[in-house]
Amino acid sequence: MEELIERETILELKSRFFDLISTGRLSSSEILTQMLIKLKELLQAAEVDLFRCEEWTKGMQLEATTRTELDEGVAGGFQDCFISDLTEAPQSFIKNPESFPQYDLVFVMDARENVKNLCAVQLNGASLGCFSDSLLNKLADECALFIQKIHILAETTEEEKRYKQLFRVTKKFHSTMDMDAVLSEIISTLREVYPSFTYYLLLSHDHQGYGGLPVKDLEYDSENETAMQAYVSGHIQFEDSVTDKNSIMYAPLKGRQGVYGVLQVIAPNSLVFPQNEVEFIKLLANTAGSALENAKLYEQSRKLIADLQLINETSHQLNTSLRLTDTMKFICGQIIKSFDAREVGFIMLDEDNHDYSVLQGSTSFFFSNEASDYILKVARRVKQDMEPLFIGDISSDIRDVSSHFRSVMCVPMIQSGDLKGFALVMHEEPYHFAFDTFKLLQSLIHHSTLAFTNSMLREELERMVVTDHLTKLYSRGYLDDKMNLSMLEDAQGTFILIDIDNFKCVNDQYGHQVGDEVLIQLARQIAKNIRGTDIGARWGGEELAIYLPGAPLEIGVMIANRLVDKVEKHTTPNVTISCGVSTWIRGQEDTTKTVFKRADQALYKAKGSGKNKVVVQNENQLGYSDKV
Ligand code: GH3
Ligand code: MG
Ligand code: MG
Repeated sequence: MEELIERETILELKSRFFDLISTGRLSSSEILTQMLIKLKELLQAAEVDLFRCEEWTKGMQLEATTRTELDEGVAGGFQDCFISDLTEAPQSFIKNPESFPQYDLVFVMDARENVKNLCAVQLNGASLGCFSDSLLNKLADECALFIQKIHILAETTEEEKRYKQLFRVTKKFHSTMDMDAVLSEIISTLREVYPSFTYYLLLSHDHQGYGGLPVKDLEYDSENETAMQAYVSGHIQFEDSVTDKNSIMYAPLKGRQGVYGVLQVIAPNSLVFPQNEVEFIKLLANTAGSALENAKLYEQSRKLIADLQLINETSHQLNTSLRLTDTMKFICGQIIKSFDAREVGFIMLDEDNHDYSVLQGSTSFFFSNEASDYILKVARRVKQDMEPLFIGDISSDIRDVSSHFRSVMCVPMIQSGDLKGFALVMHEEPYHFAFDTFKLLQSLIHHSTLAFTNSMLREELERMVVTDHLTKLYSRGYLDDKMNLSMLEDAQGTFILIDIDNFKCVNDQYGHQVGDEVLIQLARQIAKNIRGTDIGARWGGEELAIYLPGAPLEIGVMIANRLVDKVEKHTTPNVTISCGVSTWIRGQEDTTKTVFKRADQALYKAKGSGKNKVVVQNENQLGYSDKV
């Protein structure tokens, strides 16, 4: 009879348990609580608590309870509990357990290997004697079986959730080419799946601005040998720390071409890293590794394209034969923009490398006194090694440079084995430029050097073409061009034609060489008496000319008279000159030819009327102006 009742009781319990699962709406912890409530009803108990025996702490944690209000003793579980006397009991239940005096009855359940559950019951005054040992044993078995099933169910649900996450993350990884987005996705997924764990991304490449992600530098983290091992070997590593009571997993972020970093996952309060999480984290790390690789390759290819564009644009610019200054300005601008540089200078060394000049177009700093300190120190190095310089922090590299600028890159301009000069790129921040930038600068300068030197030679040649060798005044062709231009742009202008009086005699008396000397003296007087915008030129032979753009006739006459006066006083052997002055004003039909002609006629008049004087063109009827 008793047996029958027992069997019915068990059947009843089983069916109630079954109901709990069959609804499918409850979470695993809700199911466990409900299970305890059923047990409480059956035993007519006051409260029933379910503890989980923690392998690590050797204590017990509360897993579920029928209590609506938790007192602290139960909520915190039982540390250092006498688990061994409870679990090593011969029966699967213990009545009035000595080490657990709060409870009247404890069921010991081998829910799974290594994990034990204790179901502790406080009776409600009811006597323990109401329940036979065999019933209690059966109850224990049934509860154990049920709890085991629920645990498996919970794990499966959890796993399913994780793989759904992984799927979602993978999809996201494939849709982004942004490294920061990939990294932040890894972290946020992990935080969602394992909120109690701590994560770090140990990354191997120099990269900035992770926007608050827990990123650590792998190279400098010397204490972390295990992390380095994971990085180098490409295999997962574990580190269990008894003192810190945690277990750490290092999962390499591995792509096809290499390892991009290590994901560090710290599981608190565990002796060894939970096995079933390992597989998931490994999968996540691998997916992330591939995504990082893609993003990195994409970033690299974009950078390569940008680099090529820069070189291409610059080469194009160099080939458009702009003035050197404009070209320099353009290149300096490109370097500032592309390299985020502060100062860019192009320093040319003279032929014996003793002196230098800063090319126009360099940033203004290079024309200051402060710059010479940098230039000289760098120049010494470059001359010595003929190698580019990449200095992360000049104050620690080259002593006694006043180091306002800490990051310095210098690339020599070498052509046919000769050092022509160097480009100097600087920034205040130390370690501001990446090594890639340095490589690109080298390539840029390498591509530009030939064009630079050609351009400089061309300008030198141009200068030579427009300059008269003997007098260093402009050539006649140049004066022609400038005067033509002036007649288009200006409102007026004045022309002075100068001829040395009786020059043949000087040659005859002192020789041609002395004659040349006199010509040079005259040229110097001219240069001294005109402004930078005026053009002093050798008209031909011993005839010189001056064109004054924008100047009225009076100014021309004044200058001519001053010259006549100065030459008479300051030439050895002493000579005099005659000048013919002509002018043009906008609105009157005139050409350079007629202006020249009027000056020539005036000069002729000066020669015919005693020389050593200034004569003004005919039209204005100004007549003679004999040394006014
Ligand atoms: P005038 O007062 O009429 O000008 O007499 P002049 O002797 O100067 O006559 P003219 O201007 O016709 O003479 C030009 C002379 O200048 C001829 C030539 O020997 C000399 N001459 C021209 N070019 C040079 C030069 O480059 N160097 C030297 N030393 N003499 C030159
Ligand atoms: Mg003459
Ligand atoms: Mg003459």
